[in-house]
Amino acid sequence: MPSIIANHLDVIYRRIAAIATAAGRDTASLKLLAVSKTFSADAISAAYAAGQQAFGESYIQEALGKIFYLKPLRTSLKWHFIGPLQSNKTRLVAEQFDWVHSIDRLKIAHRLSEQRPAHLPPLNVCVQVNVSGEPSKRGIAPNDAVALARNVVVLPRLLLRGLMSIPKPAPDIITQRAYHRRLRELFDAMNAQGLGLDTLSMGMSDDLEAAILEGATLVRVGTAIFGERTRPIY
Ligand SMILES: *Cc1c(COP(=O)(O)O)cnc(C)c1O
Repeated sequence: MPSIIANHLDVIYRRIAAIATAAGRDTASLKLLAVSKTFSADAISAAYAAGQQAFGESYIQEALGKIFYLKPLRTSLKWHFIGPLQSNKTRLVAEQFDWVHSIDRLKIAHRLSEQRPAHLPPLNVCVQVNVSGEPSKRGIAPNDAVALARNVVVLPRLLLRGLMSIPKPAPDIITQRAYHRRLRELFDAMNAQGLGLDTLSMGMSDDLEAAILEGATLVRVGTAIFGERTRPIY
């Protein structure tokens, strides 16, 4: 098992390096988030042994078990919360995670800022934007994202780092790029207004090339590292 995960990680690093070269981008500007939801702490340990330190989780109870189990590695690991976040779960996330990618309303941001423990650095956050416009998807509408970001950036215990999206699956790279381009244009517009963002969290196992071509700085990869998930997501 560990060697399979190490091999998969190696393939992903090569995919990232290849497309970065094609796009004329420095690989140092790209981060890989290994999305470990539904996979065990042992799978995370295997990825860690292969050099991976940032992990993404979507379900708070499941994540807490792994964070506890991996406590001895806590100072080396970065935990990113990437799932839907209910108000009654914000305290656990504020206490246990380093990043939250799924800020889609001000109430959640307020709670995270209030609940972030004083002994920890500010919580890194991204605003989640619904770039492909499906009514069922989470994320704020692109037109409302600037207002939300302006309200989040002033919260004392949060550090607004950027934007995140999960576009609907697209059959070809042209369509994938069109969705990612929307997020990047929003990101550029916000930075032109002085918001100082440095993180564009977009691209997953099937569309990371399209995302990197459009300027992603962080790709979130699950299946291509850990394998198919047997439990349904969301
Ligand atoms: C599950 C998940 C991923 C990883 O998706 P894969 O297709 O398995 O790479 C990325 N981002 C978010 C927000 C997720 O929930």
